[in-house]
Amino acid sequence: MRRNSTAAMRIADVFSRVPMLAALIGTAIAISMAVLSFAALWQGRAQALQNAHVASANLVATLSADITRNIESSDLSLRTIVSGAKNPAVMTLPPDLRKLVLFDGATGMNYVGGAFVMNREGRIVVERDPSEHADLLFNDRDYFKVHADNPDMGLYISGPYVSRLRKDAASLAMSRRIDAPDGSFAGVAVIALNVTYFKALLARVNVGRSGSVFIVQQDGVMIARKPALPGDSTNYVARSPTFGAMKDQSSGSYISTSPLDGVRRLYTFQRVPGTHLIAAVAPAEEDVLEGWRERSTMIGGLTLLFGSGFIVISWLLAISLRSRAIAQEKLQRLAGTDALTGLCNRRALDRRLDEEWRRARRADQPISVLFIDVDHFKLYNDTYGHAMGDDALIAVADCIQNSVNRPGDIVARYGGEEFVVVLPAAAASGAFTFAERLRAKVEELAVPNSAAPRGVLTISIGCATTSPRHSDDALKLLSSADAALYLAKRAGRNRAVHEDSVASGSV
Ligand code: GH3
Ligand code: MG
Ligand code: MG
Repeated sequence: MRRNSTAAMRIADVFSRVPMLAALIGTAIAISMAVLSFAALWQGRAQALQNAHVASANLVATLSADITRNIESSDLSLRTIVSGAKNPAVMTLPPDLRKLVLFDGATGMNYVGGAFVMNREGRIVVERDPSEHADLLFNDRDYFKVHADNPDMGLYISGPYVSRLRKDAASLAMSRRIDAPDGSFAGVAVIALNVTYFKALLARVNVGRSGSVFIVQQDGVMIARKPALPGDSTNYVARSPTFGAMKDQSSGSYISTSPLDGVRRLYTFQRVPGTHLIAAVAPAEEDVLEGWRERSTMIGGLTLLFGSGFIVISWLLAISLRSRAIAQEKLQRLAGTDALTGLCNRRALDRRLDEEWRRARRADQPISVLFIDVDHFKLYNDTYGHAMGDDALIAVADCIQNSVNRPGDIVARYGGEEFVVVLPAAAASGAFTFAERLRAKVEELAVPNSAAPRGVLTISIGCATTSPRHSDDALKLLSSADAALYLAKRAGRNRAVHEDSVASGSV
């Protein structure tokens, strides 16, 4: 638990230090969520299309099975008619009896427009329902010619034609050849199937508002379609750019825009086995995707709304974190700054000295400290007043600050009229030279201090140097510098003293 909370605090700390990271991560999360959500929606679209395809395939299979069953039952009737027509005993029966033998119950089914036996000239010799046909010849019909020319044709299903017997009703003929005893062509048995059968079949199918369902011949001639086509467009499917796919395969599906009404539909088709008929179901893409569109508009809209809200909130939080961090940094800087001189104060000195100490230890470099004290400053205050004293301290501080030039150098006001300079990587001689130059620079400022023996403001400096690798106490270094300062004061002020020179007895 505690480990978790420290990890959380660490993360919070990272965010407070780099607030824009929170905004960027927030934005990335929102975008990823939106991408995931849109990918799921897109997958939902593919799923809706797939579901529609499966439903269409089932419908098409049902249509095909119904047509096959009807054709099979009609073919059985045709076989009965053919075998009866070949039998002289049957053909010489009285007409009513002959009809009973030739035309079984199946020929009386709905949508069967008529059942006939035609002789080799193409005249009707026997028919299920009586009609006026004595002068009609049917030898121009395709089914008649096909059987006359091909003894092995078997069952033939014609294209749609307009019936001459049944008031122009559109029909398909199913026919079989009747052979004479010597094998020559003796005529045909025909069952006419009203196209209304297909229309009634399609009427039961629901394909949505703009969908279509149709039975089409392999050559593109439309047998029946729901919704019905205008009269002059019966073979429009053949003009469809994708009809080739339907024509040459036993089943399949494709998406295409209808050349007739410009509606984009999902076509699923199947060839009715043993025929040149193709059953196709084509719901409109718009209908199929309607539910999905409504759902995705809502989900997509909410995703965009929440996602952008999340992004805006992330950025607002990041901006407020950032201004808070800036304010905190400013406070920290102020907390470490001396109000009068703008130098580091003692607290900041402690922190930065510690950092430089550890750096010097790692790099195995020396570190030097200068302890600076303004000479006879009490006299200065007494002579010129405290306000002038402050100005004098600022002038000395600026002079010290302007004398250091390396990034790691630290200048701090230690307290009152005392300053500390830390010179990382400076050996004893370098530190002393620097101290001496600094002392001279302050003297050159020539700030009058009439009560002091020299008449101008001066400073005394105590220097100390050590190697942090061999010593572990920064405070000791400071007190060594302070001790050297004491000696500088004792030796007459306005001078720099290094602890090394003390040890060697040069002071
Ligand atoms: P010495 O040469 O021995 O250092 O003599 P000194 O007079 O400088 O020594 P002392 O420590 O007796 O006096 C320091 C004086 O510095 C006392 C105090 O009035 C003055 N002082 C300390 N801080 C400030 C400050 O912020 N502003 C001003 N104007 N004076 C200050
Ligand atoms: Mg002092
Ligand atoms: Mg002093």
